Amino acid sequence: MIEKLKELAEKFGERTAYICEDESKTFAELFAGAQKIAKEISGGDKSPVAVFGGKNCAAMETILACILEKRAYVPISPSIPEGRRREIIESSGAGVLINCTEGEPKTEIIKNSAQTVKDNETAYIIFTSGSTGKPKGVPISYDNLDNFIEWITALEPLCEYEHAKVLNHADFNFDLSTASIFYALFMGNALVQLPKTDDFISIFETIEKNRPEIFVATPSFMRLCMLEKDFCENSYPYIKCIYFCGETLQKSIVKAIFERFPHIRIINAYGPTEATSAVCAAEITKEMLKYEDNLPVGIIENAAAEIEIEKGEIVLKGKSVFGGYLGGTEGGFYRMGEKRCYRTGDLGFIENGKLYFSGRKDSQIKYKGYRIELSEIEAVISSVEGVESCAVIAKRNNEGEVRLIKAFAAGTASEMSIREELAERLPEYMIPKTIKIMDSFPLNQNGKIDRKELEHR
Ligand code: AMP
Repeated sequence: MIEKLKELAEKFGERTAYICEDESKTFAELFAGAQKIAKEISGGDKSPVAVFGGKNCAAMETILACILEKRAYVPISPSIPEGRRREIIESSGAGVLINCTEGEPKTEIIKNSAQTVKDNETAYIIFTSGSTGKPKGVPISYDNLDNFIEWITALEPLCEYEHAKVLNHADFNFDLSTASIFYALFMGNALVQLPKTDDFISIFETIEKNRPEIFVATPSFMRLCMLEKDFCENSYPYIKCIYFCGETLQKSIVKAIFERFPHIRIINAYGPTEATSAVCAAEITKEMLKYEDNLPVGIIENAAAEIEIEKGEIVLKGKSVFGGYLGGTEGGFYRMGEKRCYRTGDLGFIENGKLYFSGRKDSQIKYKGYRIELSEIEAVISSVEGVESCAVIAKRNNEGEVRLIKAFAAGTASEMSIREELAERLPEYMIPKTIKIMDSFPLNQNGKIDRKELEHR
């Protein structure tokens, strides 16, 4: 990987590599910046490096510096509340924190008792929502990443765009960002970062100023863009392709996009963080809207992993799959001999060589593109003094998309004390919109909390 990065710096030297707000760097400048930071973190042990910051050039250079030094990067966005940040830094085993929030990156040595990866093999550790109440760390190795880069840079039609600009909205602590970062870098394309992802004006200012040909996006982000009536091919003729990943791509949004951008190419990619960003993809055509009930999420033949369906669940095997969570094997990871395997918890089926996603086995949801374990929210609420029991419910619209998260708690705790704990430990998108204090919960025939009934309250 290090050699490959150095080759990119030479091959694409003066091309623009990275744009964030008013900053822009060529490949040569980006790598020179990375080499400077790499010197600061060389030597000592090879513990992970916590990269604290948004998506500015300094944060990108720091990520590349970690790769040059073979130290795993642990991305931490400023939108993560302090309590959760502490948990992530501690359980990642990071020995250094680099603060990239303002000006020159500042390096801080951390005393950390957690022994995690020092193996020179881990490229990054991304933390996802964990059902036990704590975020869980997913280490992705250089082998995983190499395999992913090989796959995404060969993927039709992405492999056709050179000298292009790629728009990314995902924070670095979401694995969707790895698709845009490594695709853009390895194709010699420029990565355009959206600094604020929910600010409508800044989204369109960034798009109009930089004219990106390719979007790497969640369907939720695209729904937001489509609110702009003028967002269509006549006004934005340079947009050629959208790579979707991360949540269900509904036919309704695809139909609306094709109506406004008749010549656009749309990719629906699928995969969990545990299998390195994405393992398969399918190009979505206008014809598919006519004959497919649900849109496919991938073509099996061109997948980056082996994909099997076991008792209705999508199971991934081989090179894309990580080697187990930090600190244990909670979840769907297992080995078959030497082969790494992951039970995704996603329900699905394969038909005519295509993979279809049909929901979840458990209470994991996607909300505005974010992965959330409802049981993690419940665990945090349960930890508040005075909460005797609680339930967190996701309300969906007719298309099955989550529109609202509601919490119910019984006991003597107040809504305010619950909100304080949630704000300390969970990012904003995980905090329920409403929290209702109940005297008691409705129970179903099995004596369990009747969640269906709660949906109507
Ligand atoms: P994350 O680890 O945040 O990337 O989330 C992974 C989960 O997102 C998967 O296990 C699926 O439940 C869901 N997901 C990812 N891509 C798609 C897709 N194209 N269609 C439907 N669900 C998806």
